[in-house]
Amino acid sequence: MINYSHPLFRPPAEADNVIIQATYGCSYNNCSFCSMYKTKSYKVRDMEDVFKDIDKLATHYPAASKIFLADGDALSLDTSYLVKLLQYLQKSFVKLRRVSLYASAQNLLEKSQEELELLVFNKLNLIYYGVESGSDTVLKKITKGVNSSQIIESLNRASASGMKISATVILGIGGEKYTTEHIQDTAKIVNATTLNYLSTLQLGLEDDAKDNFYKHFNDFTMLDDYQILDEQKRFLQLLNPLNKVIFRSNHASNALHLSGTIPKDRDRLIEELDTALEIGRDALVPEIFRSF
Ligand code: SF4
Repeated sequence: MINYSHPLFRPPAEADNVIIQATYGCSYNNCSFCSMYKTKSYKVRDMEDVFKDIDKLATHYPAASKIFLADGDALSLDTSYLVKLLQYLQKSFVKLRRVSLYASAQNLLEKSQEELELLVFNKLNLIYYGVESGSDTVLKKITKGVNSSQIIESLNRASASGMKISATVILGIGGEKYTTEHIQDTAKIVNATTLNYLSTLQLGLEDDAKDNFYKHFNDFTMLDDYQILDEQKRFLQLLNPLNKVIFRSNHASNALHLSGTIPKDRDRLIEELDTALEIGRDALVPEIFRSF
């Protein structure tokens, strides 16, 4: 029905929702650990073509209430383009309640507070945001393109505009050498912002990302599953968020799946981690079933 440009990625929580590609690829496409869009060039789609996709999808899914705008960071679009797109979506899907997309610190900081509020007014009310790490050393080594202050500022501007935030952190991305700094500084970001959802992934490197990753991070040593669980435990212990955060560690990459609410379920989650560390390999998702 729709000729999507592949590869097409969406957050797990959007699996049952309508997906509309407004852009192709990622406007930054430079994080050294990421190979998601290495086969695609960034492109803003012609609005008329996007509207044609919307017309087709609205015919097939007239009752859809949640829409995800792909690809990698549709918040890179000009605000005027996004507003026209959001208004067309509201006209086409009369039950629309939520539009979401991937966003970066760069995208958010390029927009004024008024622009962000205008987007929320037009139902862009959830962003998926990769924090990855709060350590400036690690952020530099993974060529994320922003520092921890910019991450905090962008997240706080998003939440002040009324956007809900689903953030991801990557366990193991500091390697052995920077594990302490990675966990401590990442917890500081969570504690200084107002996240609604928080997920921890576990680092895995695709073959086509390895050379570039190690070129920038030449003192990196990969953590094993037990070191990752130890990072997870230290991270949970340090979390003291400003609000209630729904926590998940159930991505395909995770050796151990956890879910709860922070701070209410923190002790129970740490107990589950301790039990898994005691049991060992039998408590973990077999590696064959995992992917980053
Ligand atoms: S991690 Fe996100 S921002 Fe970085 S290159 Fe990949 S898609 Fe783009």
